[in-house]
Amino acid sequence: MRKLDGKATAALIRQELAGQIEVLRKNHGREPGLAVMLVGDDPASQVYVRNKERACAEVGIRSEGFRLPADVTQEEVEAIIARLNADPGIDGILLQLPLPRGLDSQRCLERIDPSKDVDGFHPVNMGRLTLGLPCLRSCTPAGVMALLAKYDIDVAGKKAVVIGRSNIVGKPVALMLLQANATVSICHSRTAHIANEVRNADIVIAAVGIPHFVTADMVRPGAVVIDVGINRTDQGLVGDCDYAGLESVASAMTPVPGGVGPMTIAQLLVNTVEAYRVHVAQGQDA
Ligand code: NAD
Repeated sequence: MRKLDGKATAALIRQELAGQIEVLRKNHGREPGLAVMLVGDDPASQVYVRNKERACAEVGIRSEGFRLPADVTQEEVEAIIARLNADPGIDGILLQLPLPRGLDSQRCLERIDPSKDVDGFHPVNMGRLTLGLPCLRSCTPAGVMALLAKYDIDVAGKKAVVIGRSNIVGKPVALMLLQANATVSICHSRTAHIANEVRNADIVIAAVGIPHFVTADMVRPGAVVIDVGINRTDQGLVGDCDYAGLESVASAMTPVPGGVGPMTIAQLLVNTVEAYRVHVAQGQDA
């Protein structure tokens, strides 16, 4: 079985980006800027945000952190977003989810200028993705597609089964696979006989949030398995797939950790540079 090494692939992407950003900075007189908003003190979110800021620093993206207390009001969050939308030095706005209770995350996300929506969650970007138009694509699904491409895994004409239908992973990854000409099924919590569905797949994408949900008997020998799940257990971080059991069944598979997680962060950097290119081309800095 081939291990699809997201950690190494993400490191390569960061290296390439660092070179590009160096040139862009010289040509346009400023570096790409990312605003990172964290509301409240969720420990997992704090780790994610720290990792994202560290990755920005490594490639030469200027990140500006906004740490807000859990009791911040909806209006205050929206006011900061409005200010960042108007700031010509900011190319991307990342609002770390989930938000504390009492805040309407969808409303906040919809306040972000779609050209700065580096998480690709704004309805404009999701809509454009659905239409097959250029857009900022959400980071985890785009990271999955980049990893498949890196390993020359062509999805065209293949049967892909996505397990999970969330707006941040399942739905957009299904759309991206469709765009890449796979034949796509989406399974979810109400799917009957899920093992039979998964057994049809040449490519399995697991985004369920249940440790070891996908077992060896559910997967066709030779299938490619992408494990998006990140589950904190007493045994540490585990994915949605039984990696040990699948090693002798799958032809290629992502580990957890070290698979999709690092690709997600790399894609955030890619998206920020993409947004920057659009902004400088529009002469936003003029
Ligand atoms: P979610 O809870 O929003 O969605 C889970 C999906 O799984 C739902 O659509 C649901 O229908 C489906 N599901 C739940 N129980 C099921 C069952 N018994 N059978 C079939 N389907 C079932 O989660 P999410 O935000 O899409 O994340 C999924 C997993 O991916 C989580 O473990 C999360 O931590 C992880 N994740 C990882 C990254 C990364 O960077 N690697 C990014 C985002 C999410």
